[in-house]
Amino acid sequence: MIFKQFGPTGIDVPVLGQGTWDIPERGARLDEAKRAIRRGVELDMVHLDTAEMYGAGRVEELLGQAIAGLDRDALFIASKVLPSNAGYAQTLAACERSLRRLNVEYLDLYMLHWPGNEPLEETMRALETLVEQGKTRFIGVSNFDVDDLIEAQTYLRTQRLACDQVLYHLQERGVEHRLIPYCAQHGIAVVAYTPFGRGRFPRDAVKADGAVGRIAAKHARTPRQVILNFLTREPNVFTIPKASTVPHVEENAGGTGWTLDPSDLAAIDQAFPSHDAPLASL
Ligand code: NAP
Repeated sequence: MIFKQFGPTGIDVPVLGQGTWDIPERGARLDEAKRAIRRGVELDMVHLDTAEMYGAGRVEELLGQAIAGLDRDALFIASKVLPSNAGYAQTLAACERSLRRLNVEYLDLYMLHWPGNEPLEETMRALETLVEQGKTRFIGVSNFDVDDLIEAQTYLRTQRLACDQVLYHLQERGVEHRLIPYCAQHGIAVVAYTPFGRGRFPRDAVKADGAVGRIAAKHARTPRQVILNFLTREPNVFTIPKASTVPHVEENAGGTGWTLDPSDLAAIDQAFPSHDAPLASL
């Protein structure tokens, strides 16, 4: 696994983490999903992304169960406050609830899930307070465009934004035009969510005889490994694929540690052109 500096935090985080949206919530599939998360941790995919929104808190509980007994300090646990729970006092309370559900003493990263309607200044102040209180090590945002980032930064007094977590996959490359360069310039990490486009992803992208499939064969990799490698090719970009089986996690872990050739990048550009577009959100 390759680790890269995570924004202004001064710490290194694995290029590939693990998402938890929609992990199976019961039965044998839940047991397998927990095994998959632990297998991912063994493979250094220790950036574990969750949110109070997922399963209305249930996913944080399940993640807490999956990581029980692991070395807490070796993990990088990220969660998010819902905009409807944002503001000053509400954000502090939401973080407490997330810590309880996850059964951990602190988060590594706490983000505002999307801008929403609560005054941003209050929420940014709350995030800084949570760092002062030792409840989270770093703070960030999600689904913020450049103008939102600029506004958020004007409210911060003691902390810097560690990251912006945004939608980024082969068919949604809008963030390449302004957001990723802005974040690179300002030392902010970009965390790409939904790298496989969830269910909406075109079959072409993972077909053996498509552009990505041909590149995969050339490098003796899989199409999904090519996709993860491509999305994280810039120094400030990370991604958090969600997988609920051990084989899927093991496959995804091979998405880094090797390099696509310029001709591969050109072939992907041709097959999945990068259009400038407003930031896609939930
Ligand atoms: P995703 O990671 O693009 O795709 C997940 C889907 O891909 C699942 O159906 C999974 O199947 C499948 N998959 C994963 N690895 C595979 C493999 N090697 N082979 C075959 N299928 C594979 O979608 P996502 O869950 O939307 O995004 C990832 C994470 O980003 C989320 O879980 C969440 O933590 C975060 N996120 C954040 C926001 C936000 O607003 N900040 C929004 C969306 C998502 P299995 O489950 O069967 O393995």
